[in-house]
Amino acid sequence: MKPAAERIINELVAATNDIISGRRDVADYPRYTLHSHTEFCDGRAQMEAFARRAIADGFEVYGFSPHSPVPIESSCNMTTENAERYSSEFDRIVKEHGREVTFLKSMEIDYLGANKVSFQEYSSRFNLDYTIGSVHFIPAIDGTEVDIDGRFERFRERMARYFNNDIHYVVNTFFDRSLEMVSEGGFDIIGHFDKIGHNAAHFSPGIESEGWYQRRLNELSEAIIASDLIVEINTKALAEHNRFFPSQSMWRRLADAGVRMVVNSDAHVPALIDAGRSEAFKYLSRIYE
Ligand SMILES: [Zn+2]
Ligand SMILES: [Zn+2]
Repeated sequence: MKPAAERIINELVAATNDIISGRRDVADYPRYTLHSHTEFCDGRAQMEAFARRAIADGFEVYGFSPHSPVPIESSCNMTTENAERYSSEFDRIVKEHGREVTFLKSMEIDYLGANKVSFQEYSSRFNLDYTIGSVHFIPAIDGTEVDIDGRFERFRERMARYFNNDIHYVVNTFFDRSLEMVSEGGFDIIGHFDKIGHNAAHFSPGIESEGWYQRRLNELSEAIIASDLIVEINTKALAEHNRFFPSQSMWRRLADAGVRMVVNSDAHVPALIDAGRSEAFKYLSRIYE
């Protein structure tokens, strides 16, 4: 992380802690997001429209984090060419609007397994302020990288096509890859770390309360706690699916362990840049009640 970004993000972490401890009124929750998408990946508006919305909503900090270019077929990720465009558009936005909002330049980088992705390489190549590491792809039994994020209908279809409907394999492989990513390190924020639970629970209701699932999730949480990663509370699915990533049941434990936390909206449309964030802060303020 660049030192200037680190100072800014540490302030956001401190503001989150102040809400948890009651030192800051929850109505005065800080306006920022460190996770957002753009026209250059699967975001559905131009960066300019997100920037204007950030200004209109009184944001202090707005981090752009389009999906990184990947060496596999993916309609959600930036092409390398678009990554260059993203860079120049970011510079233009800072020039034009940088006095009103602090814009930060990041990417949500897909971890594709050991030796496949170097977070530092992305960081220096694209001159990023900080990086988000996320798992959206897992290898199928034949080695094909399959996107298991996104809508359930697509997930269900892929379960049959690539995974023989073996939900244990999919969940275990997601946690294996996430654990590997955490142990490799080299990035700053871990994106939506129990996201697999959402599609898995649609596929197999109640799976998240099963002992083996809980053990895998605990294993990952322990690894994150032992690392110096920042955990995001991702609010993207709150309105539609009434859940946060990680799920609220994890928050107290993360807070007890002193894990640095930020609240990110992961917006793909400008109207949602603050969606779910006031609710997340409300629940954070009640952790120790
Ligand atoms: Zn993501
Ligand atoms: Zn995202």
